[in-house]
Amino acid sequence: MKTKNDKNNKKKSKFSCFLSKFSIFLEKYLFPEDIKCIFCGKDISSFYSKPYCSYCEKEIKFNYGNKCKICDERIYNEAKICERCMKNKYDFKKIFCPLIYEGITRKTILAYKQDNKRYLAKGFAQIIYDYIGENFKYIDIITYVPITEKRLKERSFNQSQKLAEELSKLANLPCVNCLEKIKETSDQKKLNFSERKKNLKNCFKVINKKDIKGKNVLLVDDIISTCATVQECSNMLKNYANNIYVTAIARNIINDKN
Ligand SMILES: [Zn+2]
Ligand SMILES: [Zn+2]
Repeated sequence: MKTKNDKNNKKKSKFSCFLSKFSIFLEKYLFPEDIKCIFCGKDISSFYSKPYCSYCEKEIKFNYGNKCKICDERIYNEAKICERCMKNKYDFKKIFCPLIYEGITRKTILAYKQDNKRYLAKGFAQIIYDYIGENFKYIDIITYVPITEKRLKERSFNQSQKLAEELSKLANLPCVNCLEKIKETSDQKKLNFSERKKNLKNCFKVINKKDIKGKNVLLVDDIISTCATVQECSNMLKNYANNIYVTAIARNIINDKN
């Protein structure tokens, strides 16, 4: 014989079953693609168009303010071009760098490169894509800074290539491999611009020349410090391409004025 308690329990279990189904539905509706913040890993609602959560948004250092028209580095006065760009002649037209290489940005880029977290490329590419915005109208094709075969084996992927590929999907532009790194460079961290320049000499070779002939190329790197690497690549590309633009996730602020 069924007691009143049994009936109540049945009702309760039906209701909790409905509740759990409803919460699964709600979760799928709000987070349909399992989109996660690239900085902290928390779920983000599909109504939120950025690849990071509102908490991390407050922590990220964006590359805002008065910046150099060529290298995109912050300038703390009214000048249009920074001192380094006044001194050096570059073969690229302009750099686009949405973030500053500090705090959670630095931590997450390091995890992307060193811990093989290649899934982060999609979110980083989204940040770059939003930052370049209208300027994509000047670009025909996308390429990237290469790494040597040896480094590729160690790391299992080229972080700049993965970024370029994701960016190419967002911008609906072809991604072409047109540079090869033929010589390994010694660690550039402690070198200034001119030392880096020497270190990079004859490191790159242009391949698939036909693909870039007369084209406006966007060269993708992960971090920009002294501009030496992207300058060396641009110097190679300029023999074939029309204009070269450069982009990277973040700008490493350096005091080196060389
Ligand atoms: Zn977050
Ligand atoms: Zn500059």
